[in-house]
Amino acid sequence: MAGLEVVRIPVLSDNYAWLVHDPASGETLAIDPGEAAPMLDAAAARGWRIGQVWVTHWHPDHVAGIPDIKAGGAVVTGPAAEAARIPTLDRTVGEADVVTLGEHRATVIETPGHTLGHVVFHFAEAGLLFSGDTLFAMGCGRLFEGTPEQMFGSMRRLAELPGETAVYCGHEYTQSNGRYALTVEPENAELVARMAQVDALRAGGEPTVPTTIALELATNPFMRAPSAAALGERRAEKDRFRS
Ligand code: ZN
Ligand code: FE
Repeated sequence: MAGLEVVRIPVLSDNYAWLVHDPASGETLAIDPGEAAPMLDAAAARGWRIGQVWVTHWHPDHVAGIPDIKAGGAVVTGPAAEAARIPTLDRTVGEADVVTLGEHRATVIETPGHTLGHVVFHFAEAGLLFSGDTLFAMGCGRLFEGTPEQMFGSMRRLAELPGETAVYCGHEYTQSNGRYALTVEPENAELVARMAQVDALRAGGEPTVPTTIALELATNPFMRAPSAAALGERRAEKDRFRS
């Protein structure tokens, strides 16, 4: 089974949507389409047709592009718990459900916190995680709906994935996250080194995503929070943080 091809599509101001293409079956998937046009254009430029859309949560910056992609025949999958807020869903999924792209299987993991119904998609064999607004590079999503306990549980779930898993998240927030992370762990050598790389990439206008589970375990203050209470304190501090 040949590997999956992942294409980063910058949409809106700082969102990343993703095209995932399976060369074996010729199938193409759009993840979290905050806008349709850039995704349809990127697919067309490669001779691909978007046959599926998967969404992690209901926020408009992740779902607004669905209708125009669906008009081309795509089947739309998203969290059952948020179906009422995503009227364009064709299929609803929850914990441990399996979704497929060609013969590639992805498992749905429920990760409440940012929203209550947030899900992520894990291609175990290919080693890819689409983490939406749950896990960011050196950060986590704001707690708009869930509790620190829920996000702490979500971080623990993702911490169990293999370290080499590539993590594709929903926003380019890395530099701001890293500046905050350095206030929590100024002596963390891996964090200091990573921030030097991130600053260089951003100075050149380059993306910092994907990351990996191992890198997040080493540098992410929310993944590294020792308790739900600590995660909650850090999240509140980050909400106020201006880098
Ligand atoms: Zn969101
Ligand atoms: Fe978002």
